[in-house]
Amino acid sequence: MRIKDTQCIISLAPLKNGEHSFLFTIDGELFRENHFDDIHEADLKAIVKFNKNSSIIMFNFTIEGTLSVTCDRCGDDFKMSTKMERQLIVKTDSKEHREEDDMISITTGEKDIDIAPFVYQYVVLSLPMQRVHGTDKEGNSMCNAEILKKLKKLEVTKSNEEKYIADANMHSSHTEEPTNN
Ligand SMILES: [Zn+2]
Repeated sequence: MRIKDTQCIISLAPLKNGEHSFLFTIDGELFRENHFDDIHEADLKAIVKFNKNSSIIMFNFTIEGTLSVTCDRCGDDFKMSTKMERQLIVKTDSKEHREEDDMISITTGEKDIDIAPFVYQYVVLSLPMQRVHGTDKEGNSMCNAEILKKLKKLEVTKSNEEKYIADANMHSSHTEEPTNN
């Protein structure tokens, strides 16, 4: 995946064998620079833990924070919390650089791994199809009340129209087939 500008680099070469943990802070720039418009702003922490002990290393990602997205119901922006755990296999003695969904192969000459493309992919794929404001402590929707009121009015008008059409159909079917019963 081509990702511009934002980089979250892990330099494997200077690390001793054993457990390591990296923390990256990621903001909305990662999504803006890739023109992914569904995420307007982000405040994410990505923790990458792994045990460097062989040429195949398992990166354990924990990504947590908030994403600013548009509510599908009222159209206002809101902050959605998100948390995900993902695993990425890192092969460090490959003949060529290859990136797959759950594996990255780097050559022995490569020193740095940029995990930004993976964070981007994990977050984008984790977005629910429908994004709607949550509810407050009393169970009331936190959607923009004014807009919901307007939407409700529209719905009432629409259902009245539908009723009118249904009535008209019923009426016409009666006149068209008066001798059926
Ligand atoms: Zn809403």
